[in-house]
Amino acid sequence: MDQQNSTRQELLSNLAKLRWYLTSLYWGGTEYWPAKTETSDELQHGPCDPRKPLMRATTSVDPQQILLNTQQELGDCTRCRLHTTRTRIVFGEGSPAARIVFVGEGPGYDEDQQGRPFVGRAGKLLDKMISALGYAREEVYICNMVKCRPPNNRTPNIEEIDVCSPFLIKQIEAIRPRVICALGACAAQNLLQLTSPISRLRGKTHHWRGIPFVATYHPAYLLRNPSQKSAAWQDLLEIQRLAKS
Ligand code: SF4
Repeated sequence: MDQQNSTRQELLSNLAKLRWYLTSLYWGGTEYWPAKTETSDELQHGPCDPRKPLMRATTSVDPQQILLNTQQELGDCTRCRLHTTRTRIVFGEGSPAARIVFVGEGPGYDEDQQGRPFVGRAGKLLDKMISALGYAREEVYICNMVKCRPPNNRTPNIEEIDVCSPFLIKQIEAIRPRVICALGACAAQNLLQLTSPISRLRGKTHHWRGIPFVATYHPAYLLRNPSQKSAAWQDLLEIQRLAKS
C-alpha cells in the first residue's frame, strides 16, 4: 500500500511538473505541439514523393517520343480549375536529352500568351543564368509545376499541383537529367515535399528519386532582390558541377 501511495505521489508530482512546463511554453508563445519534431517540415501529400523510385527506363522508347505522348495525353486539359482562366497551356520545352531540367512555379502573363515557359523578364534572366552555365537554352529543359497560369500570378495551390504534377513527373522521368534545378520555393518545396523556406533549401544538394536536385531563387525574385544573385551564382556552380558529372 505504501508503495502504491509513493508511486501515486511521484506520478502526481511529474504531472504537476509537466503542467508547469507546458504552461511556461504556452506563455512563451508555443501554441501547439508539432506531431513530428525531426521531420515536421515534411509535406504529407502529393504525387511528387522524392523517395519513390524513378520509373524504369524503356530503352526502346526515346525520350522525345515519351514527351510527345505526355503532351498528347495532357491534350486540351481541363483537369483543374486553372484551365478556366488560361490562354494557352505551357507544356515545357527544350532538349529531350537535357542534362539539366529547370522547374519553375507556373506560367506568367507572357508565358500564358505565348505558350512557352520563361519568356518574360524573368525568362531573360534565366537565359543569362543558363548561358553562364555554358549551355544554350535549347540544350536544357524548362518547365513548371503547373502548366496553366494561375489568376493574377498567384501561387498554385496544393490541389492544382497534385493534379498537374504527374505530367511534370513524366517529363522528368523521360529526360532523366543529371540534375534538376528548382526555381523558387514552390517547385523546391513541392518536389522535395518539404515546407522549409527557399533560403534553407538552397545551398545544398538534395535528391529527387535518385536525381541530384538543387534549389535556387526564382529569377523573378532575383530581379526584385539583385543582392541575392551571388547566392544564386553559388547554386549555379553546383548545378554546373553536377551536370558535368
Ligand atoms: Fe490541366 Fe495542369 Fe492546366 Fe490544371 S494546370 S488544367 S491540370 S494542364
